Amino acid sequence: MKDFKAKISEHKKQFKRALARVKDEKSLQELRNLYLSRKRGHLRVLIEDMKALKPQERPMGGKMINSLKTLVQEKLESLKAEFSADEPVLSKFDLTLPGRREYRGSPHPIVLFRQEVEDIFLAMGFSIEDGPEIETDYYNFEALNFPPHHPARDDWDTLYITDDLLLRTHTSPVQIRVMEKRKPPIRIIIPGKVYRRETPDPTHLPMFCQVEGLVVDQDITFAHLKGTLEHFLKTLFYEKIKIRFRPSFFPFTEPSAEVDIECTVCEGENKECRVCKGSGWIEILGAGMVNPQVFKNVNIDPEKYSGFAFGLGIDRTAMFAYQIPDMRFFYENDLRFIRQFIQK
Ligand SMILES: [Zn+2]
Repeated sequence: MKDFKAKISEHKKQFKRALARVKDEKSLQELRNLYLSRKRGHLRVLIEDMKALKPQERPMGGKMINSLKTLVQEKLESLKAEFSADEPVLSKFDLTLPGRREYRGSPHPIVLFRQEVEDIFLAMGFSIEDGPEIETDYYNFEALNFPPHHPARDDWDTLYITDDLLLRTHTSPVQIRVMEKRKPPIRIIIPGKVYRRETPDPTHLPMFCQVEGLVVDQDITFAHLKGTLEHFLKTLFYEKIKIRFRPSFFPFTEPSAEVDIECTVCEGENKECRVCKGSGWIEILGAGMVNPQVFKNVNIDPEKYSGFAFGLGIDRTAMFAYQIPDMRFFYENDLRFIRQFIQK
């Protein structure tokens, strides 16, 4: 009887230890089988063992087996209840679904494109300059060799604030401000917003972004201008892109040129192309050698120094690069449009 009692209490101890290790339904079932299985469960074996007891000891033995059985059943039941209490919570979630992603903000497509342009010039040793968007007539026009009443002023439809203050029509005033402060060599680009009195249409906006560049040093020639712009356009678009220079006029450069690239949409193959209007060419840049009069205005000796300047519309160029038919899309803030440019 003593042995039987010891065996029962040993089972109780072992059961409690095993119970502590149960982590899921499967191990719970295994423990149940180990004790309660009708064939080889520990309780079954104990009932067999009872035959070895004396007849008067058997009722006591039976009670001990029952107390073990009750313990095992109760503990297993309550653990099972704990597991199934978790179930409804778990079933609320379909863990196989992909996670819901928070929409993350991203730079505006024009900002992204501007950064692309900046990176190309930074790699060539240019630095980035900035200046005021409200300018004086002097910096926006006069210092750049547009005297009052000069007919070239008509090409820049200007928004005046007072007789003397205006919203800058190009970023060129910053070229003057930098040359006033700094001696050559100068190698800068000036990205920024500019304003003109335009009615918005697919290719015109009253506010748009420009980037201008200026290089001033000794012995700067038109070859430097051509090489710099060719490298820039080939990096921005593609290596084999066709580029042409056409003579043009700007008051602040002499000689001046317009720079065209082959149409990125039809490559000159489509006479009906809406982007190049069938010409096969897209005007992309204005450029030229800095007019000696501009150097005189900022006290740089034009006998000693020469330089070149160029400018392009960021929005306009982004239109061609991304093949967007209407420039106004950039500023309508339609998220379906903007989200196409989100950086992954
Ligand atoms: Zn075309």
